[in-house]
Amino acid sequence: MNQSNTYLASLPCHAQNTVLKPLKAYAKEHRIPIIADEGLRFIQQISKLTEAKNILEIGTAIGYSAIGLAKANESVQITTVERDENMQALALQHFIDYDVFERVKLVKKDALMYTPEGNTVYDLIFIDAAKAQSQRFFERFEPYLRPGGIIITDNLLFHGLVGTEPPSKNVRALTKKIEQFNAYVLNRKDFDTMIYPIGDGMSLSIKKR
Ligand code: SAH
Ligand code: MG
Repeated sequence: MNQSNTYLASLPCHAQNTVLKPLKAYAKEHRIPIIADEGLRFIQQISKLTEAKNILEIGTAIGYSAIGLAKANESVQITTVERDENMQALALQHFIDYDVFERVKLVKKDALMYTPEGNTVYDLIFIDAAKAQSQRFFERFEPYLRPGGIIITDNLLFHGLVGTEPPSKNVRALTKKIEQFNAYVLNRKDFDTMIYPIGDGMSLSIKKR
């Protein structure tokens, strides 16, 4: 962390999410890779700015980001897709605990097997599942995004390792895959995309009208 980051971390930027603290602690204890504080504030503000009504999230885990999105914007409906049974059970319990279960629908499926109903239109899609599969998720769900809608993809810098030569072969395979996604998404001419160094690196892609 450089000095400015330390200073920012001392400000109450994340105060809005204090209600999520127990979930954050749970995720830390069990090494569940939930969204970074500033990343959550970013998607919350994008959701408010765009007055999103219908959000699709790929990768629920324990429901942390979905609850954060539901709490930030009371008029939003969220569909969130998770393939892991343990995570599904935890997420459902948390949606009840945090009183958002009426607005957050959990799809218990592998996202690569999930097809939204034909007339579904999302305002915002948040891709945060298997890091090597982001392009497949982008291609699969982009047709359900309204013109002017937004796709945010998380973990595009992967702990600062993307763009470097990581010593481990496995990590290198993953960072190469992420680099391929970054090139892919920046090259989609039907989207206006920027990659931001927020949290673990996030792209913001606006679908052209
Ligand atoms: N969005 C959450 C974190 C998600 S972690 C948050 O910030 O709070 C990534 C999750 O994606 C894991 O729980 C993993 O099981 C799930 N996942 C990975 N690949 C998936 C797939 N193909 N379909 C559905 N879920 C997937
Ligand atoms: Mg993530």
